Amino acid sequence: MAVADKAASPAGQATPDLLIAGAGVSGLWLALKATRAGLSVTLVERGNPGGGASGGFLGALMPHSPERWNGKKEFQFRALVDLEDEIARLESETGVPCGYRRVGRILPLTSERGRITAIERIPEAQANWGEVFGYTVHHTPDRGDWPNILRAPHGVVHETLSARISPPGLLEALLTGLAVMPNFDFRLGVELVELSATGKLARLSDGSTVGFGHAALANGIDAFPMIARLAGLPAHSVGGGVKGQAALMDAGAPPDLPLVYDDGVYVIAHENGRVAVGSTSENRFDDPQATDERLDEVIKRARKLCPLIKDAPVIRRWAGVRPRAVGRDPMLGPVPGAPGVLAMAGGFKISFGIAHRMADCLVAEITGEAGPETPQSFAVTSHLAKAAEQPAKS
Ligand SMILES: Cc1cc2nc3c(=O)[nH]c(=O)nc-3n(C[C@H](O)[C@H](O)[C@H](O)COP(=O)(O)OP(=O)(O)OC[C@H]3O[C@@H](n4cnc5c(N)ncnc54)[C@H](O)[C@@H]3O)c2cc1C
Repeated sequence: MAVADKAASPAGQATPDLLIAGAGVSGLWLALKATRAGLSVTLVERGNPGGGASGGFLGALMPHSPERWNGKKEFQFRALVDLEDEIARLESETGVPCGYRRVGRILPLTSERGRITAIERIPEAQANWGEVFGYTVHHTPDRGDWPNILRAPHGVVHETLSARISPPGLLEALLTGLAVMPNFDFRLGVELVELSATGKLARLSDGSTVGFGHAALANGIDAFPMIARLAGLPAHSVGGGVKGQAALMDAGAPPDLPLVYDDGVYVIAHENGRVAVGSTSENRFDDPQATDERLDEVIKRARKLCPLIKDAPVIRRWAGVRPRAVGRDPMLGPVPGAPGVLAMAGGFKISFGIAHRMADCLVAEITGEAGPETPQSFAVTSHLAKAAEQPAKS
């Protein structure tokens, strides 16, 4: 196993095999997978776990559409398939329910063109998703008005690969799993301030300097300026954030209802009868945490889409900023020119479905053991090439 020496760091602390910045879904899965693999891990989180984009409650685990198959779609498909077993193991190790269920998804068809396209996708779904998961087109939804038949004048697609999870449940399970790991050191309220490009040293906000075998930037939107700096590119060229707003309702909904997704609106019934609806997509925003009339509009559309939630009271409104890398795919793997530094960022709208597999890739990178193949479009070099093509911002 290619791990670092346990030599003392400049601050006199033991040098971890892996230093991780950020305790969102990415950093927590990475920490768990790395400690399971026997690596010593220090995780620094500047606020609270789930204090970034992972602090929401939507939890949709939806595949990309099955046509024009590529490495990214294959990676996400494998991740969604494997997550069921990953969650079963995590729940049995920790006793913490993650609110996972493979409920499938309904997509209303609002035009004849959409219906024809959906029918054309059936053989591609069969070829790429295999026989276990269905992708079928129906005249009406088979769960009454979930969604409202009036919103599906040309029928519905019903696929059985999608699932949902409780984001707070998953984070709690990951934290519980990590708490019993003897090779895990959690430093809350501590920020990674700077990484040295050459010396495998990290400067932290508590004034200490820590050496590392590897360091992983799993710190959401804040990973991008750090990676840009290491690559000698402008701070905002490597990625940024897209704000999203969501609401949670007390609906008494059956927990086996499929996800409904229509033109940017998600409706997701969870285990406890609650229904999450989302999301806005805002490239420009002043307050990343404020909710406003854009969310009211999403709620209105969701209520029309699924009459079951027509009168359900909204019990929480939330906003967060999704990390999106310049290449639009997740950013994963070694940062060129910075020995030992790894990126795990840019999961955008799909992190909850793929973070465990992204973590497997990085653990394999560190240990030299076999792991899943990282799609070329995820590589930091691919993103940096795109960043270098961007016109300079003033
Ligand atoms: C409204 C909305 C709905 C969404 N719905 C879904 C969905 O249904 N399904 C899905 O899969 N995804 C969804 N997403 C996207 C998903 O939430 C994100 O992709 C995911 O949370 C990103 O996780 P992360 O761990 O990479 O980053 P984050 O969760 O942002 O975590 C980064 C962490 O790093 C910490 N940090 C930052 N800088 C430093 C530093 N220098 N040192 C130490 N710590 C630092 C932050 O405090 C934070 O805790 C949604 C997002 C939004 C906003």
